[in-house]
Amino acid sequence: MLVDIKPIARSTGESLPVELSGTPDSIALAFPGFRFSEPVTFTGKVANTGDGLLVLSGTVAASYESDCGRCLRPVHGALSVPVVETYRSRYHADVGRREEKEEDDGTGYRFDGWSIDVSEALRDDLLLALPARVLCREDCRGLCTVCFADRNERDCGHDERDDSEKSPFGRLRELL
Ligand SMILES: [Zn+2]
Ligand SMILES: [Zn+2]
Repeated sequence: MLVDIKPIARSTGESLPVELSGTPDSIALAFPGFRFSEPVTFTGKVANTGDGLLVLSGTVAASYESDCGRCLRPVHGALSVPVVETYRSRYHADVGRREEKEEDDGTGYRFDGWSIDVSEALRDDLLLALPARVLCREDCRGLCTVCFADRNERDCGHDERDDSEKSPFGRLRELL
């Protein structure tokens, strides 16, 4: 997902509106059991703040499909994540290191030439915003760890008093 920065490359203080739409593949986000649906979109702007720095700001939005972490039912969700990322021109970063001995603090992203590829930043921001655990609903009762019945649908009668049994490995542990 490329942004053409030519119109603002030489004008400090100028900014450009940015509207992008990409496939989940373009941001290389694929996990087993986790899929981003199309499209992944970005709306915002990129500003030339001088000294070879560009600041991308806006919102990245994506929808996803996953499996409930307790009952394995399919779950659909959406993410809308604020983005503020800095891009430093590779040329300026090099000159800074070589001639001014300016420490490169290593933060932000690099760009070359007349465009910036924002895929990596958008991917990073989406990854940070992913829920630690996807559930079909907060009070999902999950699968019975003894007989694997969906406990949202029926009460199989098995008791799950022991916390260790709430994990799918509880039964396994018992057998070992
Ligand atoms: Zn569930
Ligand atoms: Zn059961």
